[in-house]
Amino acid sequence: ANGEEDVPTRFLKLGANDFLTKPLVKLEVQTRVNANLEVLELFQKVKDLANKDFLTGAFNRRFFFDSGNAIFDKSKRKKKNIAVAMLDIDLFKRINDNFGHDVGDIVLKELSEILVKNVRKSDIVVRFGGEEFIIVLQNVKDKAGIVKVAEKIRETFAQTKILVAGKTLTKTISIGVSVFPEDTTKIWECIKFADLALYDAKHNGRNKVVEFNEKMLIEADYQKG
Ligand code: GH3
Ligand code: MG
Ligand code: MG
Repeated sequence: ANGEEDVPTRFLKLGANDFLTKPLVKLEVQTRVNANLEVLELFQKVKDLANKDFLTGAFNRRFFFDSGNAIFDKSKRKKKNIAVAMLDIDLFKRINDNFGHDVGDIVLKELSEILVKNVRKSDIVVRFGGEEFIIVLQNVKDKAGIVKVAEKIRETFAQTKILVAGKTLTKTISIGVSVFPEDTTKIWECIKFADLALYDAKHNGRNKVVEFNEKMLIEADYQKG
């Protein structure tokens, strides 16, 4: 509504992505709004391509390297607890060997779906490696609750019948869980703790949820010599 000629230029220069002059023409408003929405959609697509895993739709390792520390620091500032669950499919190699990679991929997708369904929207599911995922659970109020969530995920996956070529197969996962202790200063410590707990689960029969404890650190150091 301001008649000054350089106003649109100034707005655009300051970062606005479009400018409409009053009086408004309905079709022009609609067209411009749509064009901006398309740009936003495209932006989201590019972000997803960079941050998400193509196969499962989970966040990828790169995203976690970029954002993991920031997520942790934000929680610390807000004095909220974070937990990390690290999961790995049990004897996954056998699936590929016996049924082929395509079937392995179906199993990975199935697991990823179960993970997303069983955590809150604010939690972050990351495909950390081939058949290894981590979940960062934010705003954790009780530790025991986290083990329960992990237990539910473990059980749901174990009971899921995956249909391939007219046959059904089932698989299991092992999970290591670590809830941020007070004195943790880096997210990588928590990942390491969850990894040690996962190692413990693998070595004690698989298809298990194991919570990190300090003894595992001592044992790991001992093994390193
Ligand atoms: P463990 O219970 O000790 O974890 O045994 P495992 O067989 O699962 O462990 P291992 O690390 O030996 O095998 C992981 C396998 O995951 C090997 C690799 O071929 C497979 N893998 C990794 N990424 C993908 C993928 O994107 N698709 C498929 N189909 N397989 C993958
Ligand atoms: Mg495995
Ligand atoms: Mg593995």
